[in-house]
Amino acid sequence: MIPKERVLIINALILTMNSRKEIIPGGSILIEGGVIKRIQKGTPVLDFRVQKTLDARGGIVMPGMINTHTHLGMSFFRSLGDDLKDRLRKILFPLEKSLVTEDLVYWATLHSLTEMIQGGVTTLFDMYFFEDAAARAASKAGVRSILGETVLNFPSPDSSAAYGGIGYAREFIQEWKNDGLITPAIAPHAPYTVDREHMKMCHDLACKEEVPLTLHLNEMTFEMEQFQKEFGKSPLSCLDKWGCLDSRVVAAHCLFTDQNDREILLNRGTGVAHNMVANIKSGKGVASIPEMIEMGIPVGLGSDGPMSGNTLDIISQMGYVSKVHKLIRRDPQIMSPSLVVELATIGGARALHIDKITGSLEPEKMADIVIMNHASPSLFPVYDPYSALVYGASPRDVDTVLVKGRILMENRRINHLDIPEIRARGQEYFEKVCSHPALKELNLKVNASAPSP
Ligand SMILES: [Zn+2]
Repeated sequence: MIPKERVLIINALILTMNSRKEIIPGGSILIEGGVIKRIQKGTPVLDFRVQKTLDARGGIVMPGMINTHTHLGMSFFRSLGDDLKDRLRKILFPLEKSLVTEDLVYWATLHSLTEMIQGGVTTLFDMYFFEDAAARAASKAGVRSILGETVLNFPSPDSSAAYGGIGYAREFIQEWKNDGLITPAIAPHAPYTVDREHMKMCHDLACKEEVPLTLHLNEMTFEMEQFQKEFGKSPLSCLDKWGCLDSRVVAAHCLFTDQNDREILLNRGTGVAHNMVANIKSGKGVASIPEMIEMGIPVGLGSDGPMSGNTLDIISQMGYVSKVHKLIRRDPQIMSPSLVVELATIGGARALHIDKITGSLEPEKMADIVIMNHASPSLFPVYDPYSALVYGASPRDVDTVLVKGRILMENRRINHLDIPEIRARGQEYFEKVCSHPALKELNLKVNASAPSP
């Protein structure tokens, strides 16, 4: 993109998601050098040339959606052994040990990013291995990405020793910390896989380098029981006592929290990634999100990895987030569509502590924008754009996507990625997975005869 390139979006039903939640019908957005310069009703009369005009034709134009928790590099394992008990240890760990390489992470991440662009995700927080390869993929795809290198108490695909992720992260952070689109981060996997000493080391590194930290927290029943037995308190409360919770932390799941836990989250300014679909698919539970929102804890939506939640877009989350919380509370008034769209956009940005640069459509913010398809049958008529999005939209209704003013997809065409090649690489890995001994041992039936695209 040339530095001062101008893009103009016209005929837009703009959901600004600013603090007043202004909606502008028949509006336009002027972008210059990747930044939103002007938002107004009608089409502006300009005394300069714009390089590109995008006609939304009355369709909904909204901030790009934010996926606050995912594992991009796992997409080639999707749908494998879904619902099998102890799948992590029986399938995933053996597969990761023998198959996860820099090459797999690069191609699987590109595959995931293709799906995300097609679903309107413009910002994400990832946690996986070989995050340097993920960074190269995200940079190529042009999606704003915070990438957390995973730290575990056992050898992992990218380190031969326990806790090797810390050393990897140290180098990874140096390499990417000044990138305009990629933010390197560290991701101690969970309190039950990273001990106190190493959790502290991860947090110290994040503070020293001023990078984000993410982890799975208060997610498992065994995790809650183990900490209660060992420390007499929740993992979240322990982490706080160890000095590891603050506003650079994004805690994924937080399924089991009491009032004390929630007060800690609020006081520390820690963001929460709410992964509704993954959590209900595994039957684990549902986080107390309405309570957190009422208190003012920053909450965003996440898909979790493609083995857990199976889809990586955020539109697929929104309907469940609204409806499941209503069901639990037996209250149709909570989790309104406007609140859910907020969680998907500016709320996610707050949870990731980047709301100054993205998450809403306002002058001087980055032009991370989604144009929905005006002709989609399920998006007509639009009496209430929030309702239309949360209750009726699908990720296939996303038409055009911009990140930092760069058009990543236009009329559902992505021109800067070689999608057939990404798919062909995926096919090679699919065949390797099908013939893996871990599957044979479990006598797991897979569709090994799936044809090449
Ligand atoms: Zn996760």
